[in-house]
Amino acid sequence: MRPILDISTAKVSVELTSKCNLRCNMCPMSNLQRPKAHMPWWLVEKVAADFRDNGIRVRWLHEMGEPLLYPQLAEAIDLFPGCSVSTNTMLLDRATAERILASTLGRIRLCVDTLNPDVYPTIRKGGKFEQVVGNIRTFLELSRGLAIQVEIQRMITRPTAHETLEDFRRFFDLDRYPQARVIEKTCEGLDTSDATDLHDSYYGCFQGYPFNWFIVMSDGRVSHCCYDAHGQQPIGDLKTQTVREVLSSPILGKYMAAFKARDWDTLPRCGECYRNTTGTGVVVDHLVQLGHRLDRVLPVKQVARKIINR
Ligand code: SF4
Repeated sequence: MRPILDISTAKVSVELTSKCNLRCNMCPMSNLQRPKAHMPWWLVEKVAADFRDNGIRVRWLHEMGEPLLYPQLAEAIDLFPGCSVSTNTMLLDRATAERILASTLGRIRLCVDTLNPDVYPTIRKGGKFEQVVGNIRTFLELSRGLAIQVEIQRMITRPTAHETLEDFRRFFDLDRYPQARVIEKTCEGLDTSDATDLHDSYYGCFQGYPFNWFIVMSDGRVSHCCYDAHGQQPIGDLKTQTVREVLSSPILGKYMAAFKARDWDTLPRCGECYRNTTGTGVVVDHLVQLGHRLDRVLPVKQVARKIINR
């Protein structure tokens, strides 16, 4: 039977820090409801050893927070070879770039989001457009010919809708840098911490399945979803548990039952994804729920199976 949280296919992240130097408009950092702190080094080493022993590969070395604020970033990267880091790029000066390029980093995402210097500060609050652009250009030059994937992030929002991938490629002269590409992301519709017109059209589990992630927050607690920024739905704590203990915890079964029953007292963050009460999504969901309830009272599927197996 497939485990509720299958670590062999889950996206695994380790949040080195929940501190950030910016307050971007799509990010819940401004009202983060857990301490803003670096992960203690002993815990980084404990998690790395546990993952190594279990053959678990880390995809992202962050969740909330700006990883470049972590004082031992390059050393941490080397404990999770091939991992990826996403940064707002404000702190990626030449010395920092050289340090992390000498590490085992597999991929870096550089978030500039827009090419419009007037729009930039409305998205990346506290950031400096010219500094970020300069840091990206330096990084592209330093990483040329190295085995690292460089992603430059364009954010799709209303004020950036007219910008194109080709604009970004030309702006950063990417024909010269085969290690780099532009990626597009949208947070506006999915940003359930800040309802927008777009958000109103979303209803349901944005991940498609509630246990696609294994995220170790900077305080050691583990969450099962990348949208659980405040750590409202922890499934364990690697300060005191091993990864195998977390994966076999009864809380996974409890959360799955709560998810199926739409019990948002137990899963308040999931409840946020289901808070839009208009549109067809909610109607379909209620019909599915009704079907489950009817099936419990009148187990049609079981009866049918018995008849077929006779
Ligand atoms: S918070 Fe819950 S409902 Fe929303 S995407 Fe994550 S698992 Fe799905």
